[in-house]
Amino acid sequence: YRRQQLKGEELSKQLLEGNKTALSLGITLIESNQATHQKEAQKLVETCLPYASKSIRIGITGVPGVGKSTFIEAFGSYLVDLGKKVAVLAVDPTSSVSRGSILGDKTRMEKLVTRKNAFIRPSPSGDSLGGVAKKTRESIILCEAAGFDVILIETVGVGQSETTVHSMTDFFLLLKLAGAGDELQGIKRGIIEMADAIIINKADGENLKAARNARLEFKRALHLYPPKKSSWEPKVLLCSSLNNTGIEEIWDLLKDYFNLTQKNNHFEHNRSEQNKFWMLQTINEHLKNQFYQHPEIKLALKEQLKALDNNEITPFAAAEYLIEKYNSL
Ligand code: GDP
Repeated sequence: YRRQQLKGEELSKQLLEGNKTALSLGITLIESNQATHQKEAQKLVETCLPYASKSIRIGITGVPGVGKSTFIEAFGSYLVDLGKKVAVLAVDPTSSVSRGSILGDKTRMEKLVTRKNAFIRPSPSGDSLGGVAKKTRESIILCEAAGFDVILIETVGVGQSETTVHSMTDFFLLLKLAGAGDELQGIKRGIIEMADAIIINKADGENLKAARNARLEFKRALHLYPPKKSSWEPKVLLCSSLNNTGIEEIWDLLKDYFNLTQKNNHFEHNRSEQNKFWMLQTINEHLKNQFYQHPEIKLALKEQLKALDNNEITPFAAAEYLIEKYNSL
């Protein structure tokens, strides 16, 4: 009951003081599709923006079972121990489609979730990756305004979600397993190319030897990719999220990366490029929604799809017809 009363100025005030309940409520506003909520959310984001702290945003990806939540539990706890405030967000485009999200169902990060300086938010549901991504982008701003200085954004290797997370983070971390067949097969080239670090997880027990071999193979493979704009050379590290080994090295690596990219200005440049990209994305998404959600277009679209089925019209003529119709509405 009291939660519901937390609104407007009181909500933003408490959020800026670092209150996690207020942060949670703020993100709920962002995730709501109700028009009044969206207005409130817009205002909240604008209020928060000037106070958004200088955080670092780390993208984390890997197939289901690779150990993402275990890793985030270990890495996040390590960072909290260092005095950092850690927020974990997720981009999971499957949640809206299958209703059973890949990232969200199990109880995850049980220890981290109890830490005062940790905030964990499951993936928002949405109709499109674009919609989910916009919500995540805005949630990042709220987390930063609430004083969180490390933002971990997790995603599962489905479709375009890695590219999306890559476009909202400063550093991109790919979790891999050793010995899962031929190391370099079946990995989407684009993902390796985006990675600033490849972490071979579960490098423990009987797995350790295979993990070391995989490390060499990935190191060799990384040489085949063109140099990064950041001039950072991607690294391959071993880690056991279960035994907490290799976690400190990963943090050291990140510090090296941020030192380099702050010195050579890539950090700022990349963020401003990302802002431009997200402005254009938001426009695209908005225009698309306006078009497809217009009742008359919905009807006309149905008719044109039918006409296409019956070979009565070409796809291009149908598209042109619909666009002209929309413009005349
Ligand atoms: P996610 O689907 O990527 O989030 O993977 P989870 O974090 O849920 O981990 C999947 C399974 O791998 C769980 O049973 C974990 O206990 C196990 N696991 C995760 N990290 C490690 C590790 O470093 N070593 C070992 N041996 N098992 C791990």
